Amino acid sequence: MKFFNSLTKTKEELIPINGKTVKMYTCGPTVYSEAHIGNLKAYIFMDQIYRTLKYLGFNVHGVMNITDVGHLTSDADEGDDKMLVASKREKKTPWEIAKFYTEIFMRDIKKMNITLPKEIVPATTVIEEIIAFVKGLMEKGYAYETSKGIYYDISKFKDYGKLSGTKLEDKLMGARIEVDEEKRNPADFALWIKAPKEHIMQWESPWGMGYPGWHIECSAIGRKYLGDKFDIHTGGIDHKTVHHENEIAQNDALNGHKTVNFWLHTEFLQVNNSKMGKSLHNIYTLSDLEKEGYTAMDYRYLLFNSHYSKIANFTFEVLDGARNSLKQLANLVRLHKNGSETVEQEVLDSYKKDFTNAISDDLNMPQALAVVWQMLRNTPKSVDVYKQFEDFNQVLGFVLNEEAEAEIPEEIKNLAEKRWTAKQTRDFATADALRSEIDAKGFTILDSKDGYKIEKK
Ligand code: AMP
Ligand code: ZN
Repeated sequence: MKFFNSLTKTKEELIPINGKTVKMYTCGPTVYSEAHIGNLKAYIFMDQIYRTLKYLGFNVHGVMNITDVGHLTSDADEGDDKMLVASKREKKTPWEIAKFYTEIFMRDIKKMNITLPKEIVPATTVIEEIIAFVKGLMEKGYAYETSKGIYYDISKFKDYGKLSGTKLEDKLMGARIEVDEEKRNPADFALWIKAPKEHIMQWESPWGMGYPGWHIECSAIGRKYLGDKFDIHTGGIDHKTVHHENEIAQNDALNGHKTVNFWLHTEFLQVNNSKMGKSLHNIYTLSDLEKEGYTAMDYRYLLFNSHYSKIANFTFEVLDGARNSLKQLANLVRLHKNGSETVEQEVLDSYKKDFTNAISDDLNMPQALAVVWQMLRNTPKSVDVYKQFEDFNQVLGFVLNEEAEAEIPEEIKNLAEKRWTAKQTRDFATADALRSEIDAKGFTILDSKDGYKIEKK
């Protein structure tokens, strides 16, 4: 299995620290509002890794945090705690906000058929570990106290910036307009924040009442559940320059060695050429898509159409294409399920080889999907193919809507499939005759770039 490692900027073979077990950490959601479909792209990425590793015979010990405190409105440690902003907006306690949006997140994850990690850990459940982590950094001379809290001194960590390729000197020079005079360097970040009275979530600490910074929760949770060395850390590309640099600085300073081997990042989901983001007011949630008549599976299919490291552009037109393809895929799978022919194992093995090569090459899902289409289209209708599809579907995770498909009679689906094959082989006379036959039986065929759709007239 090869992954593109953001840390080394090369594709590398994954050799787990512990035999066949892969220890993996994912930055989870901040539960102050409903996740948007851009956020869900990051968790589909996590799911693709879990499913692929499992398919290839690895065990995955996965951990994900839930940020329910300490993520300020600016990632550069300024502004208010997002949980508090939501609490004021919705006139609920931050605890109620966290519970409410965690439940919505879990509902969306389930609808998308995303595999959940073994451990899902809210930041507020590991305050003790966070305090111990901060104390450790203080003792080692990486952190200092101000009237506002405990800060990490980035000038002490010589590798600061190695993930995103930012030079420490540039970081130390940058951000001249400094509001906090007590900070040693402008880019020093908060590990622990001394709480003003109005901050509802606060805990006792050696530095008085306070709450954790955002970056430290991931380090403390990773350390508690995965130890001081683990294989993979994932997240969205926006986390690379600040959040993950800070995690590396915290982890490696405390442990005295490199903590994470592979850093994997997924690119943004865009709308109209700009990042989909809550602060940009251009978001769609899964519920928005459902209101327009689409399903979570349509969106799942859309995401499998492009590589995780590429920007995916969201439009309803693209989503339409995904829905049609998925319907057609379900049709073909059904035809194979009820097929009476046999297909030689050798043929299936060759598809399996191509499929496995695609997924083990840095999760090339578009290529894997192309192999699946080839197999479904180019083999006689056979339950052997259906079984092979089910095997591949452990990685794809598509829940196929067989009920909706059942409205189209088997006979029509067979005719439509024959027509498609005729068209592909440029036998247009047969294709036209089959279209007329289907038409006479009360159904219409709509062709698209990727295939066709059958509709009842
Ligand atoms: P948050 O809940 O804001 O902490 O973000 C949760 C995850 O979604 C993180 O891994 C982000 O990097 C990721 N993310 C946020 N916006 C997008 C986007 N437009 N496309 C892809 N991933 C995103
Ligand atoms: Zn994180």
